[in-house]
Amino acid sequence: MNLQTLLKRIVECCGVPDWWPSSDPFEIAIQAILTQNTNWKNVMKATMNLRKLGLMSPEGLQNVDISTIEDAIRPSGFYKIKAKRIKSFVNFIFEKLNGKIENLKKYSIEDARELLLSISGIGKETADTILLFALDFPIMIVDSYTIRVLKRVGFETPNDYDKLRRILENNAPKKDPETFKLLHSGFDELAKRFCKKSKPLCEECPIRDVCKRKLDTI
Ligand code: SF4
Repeated sequence: MNLQTLLKRIVECCGVPDWWPSSDPFEIAIQAILTQNTNWKNVMKATMNLRKLGLMSPEGLQNVDISTIEDAIRPSGFYKIKAKRIKSFVNFIFEKLNGKIENLKKYSIEDARELLLSISGIGKETADTILLFALDFPIMIVDSYTIRVLKRVGFETPNDYDKLRRILENNAPKKDPETFKLLHSGFDELAKRFCKKSKPLCEECPIRDVCKRKLDTI
């Protein structure tokens, strides 16, 4: 099976419309930072804390001291580092975007990405998550779930993040934000529900007929 066909299968079997549970671009961006190295349940606990305190806005997070943010996002783990990243991100929004993350849409995708990557603690996966889910830029995200599924199915995956990202973008059924969101959610749902790190559920997996089951890769 070629990659194009596999990606189409993943979109069809496992892609979830409206997969990201927030619709506010700023909240999505904050959650993209919170989700680094933790699971979604913990992200939502931190999200609820920020909402309850009235802090889930650029103004709210700008005007509060960092220890309050640390306490609120503690459930997401690495809370001291993440609080610093959130502060850097919010400062960036005021310094470069006039207080509105939506103003990133005025830039080309390359320039918007470069700006995000200039923020301390924002790496490629986080930047691309913000670009795709918060701002609807047509860009793919490469995460550990994507790499695990591709490797186990039997595809060579380059170590270079951007090389793999472009391969996925070029072979996706369509090159628009909605398709990239479905593809990303498809990889993540497939990995979480079937292609688990240990004890994958191959017999129930919707792509078992095309998978080489290279289970020595995690
Ligand atoms: S068949 Fe098994 S190894 Fe292959 S993608 Fe499905 S769960 Fe993963």
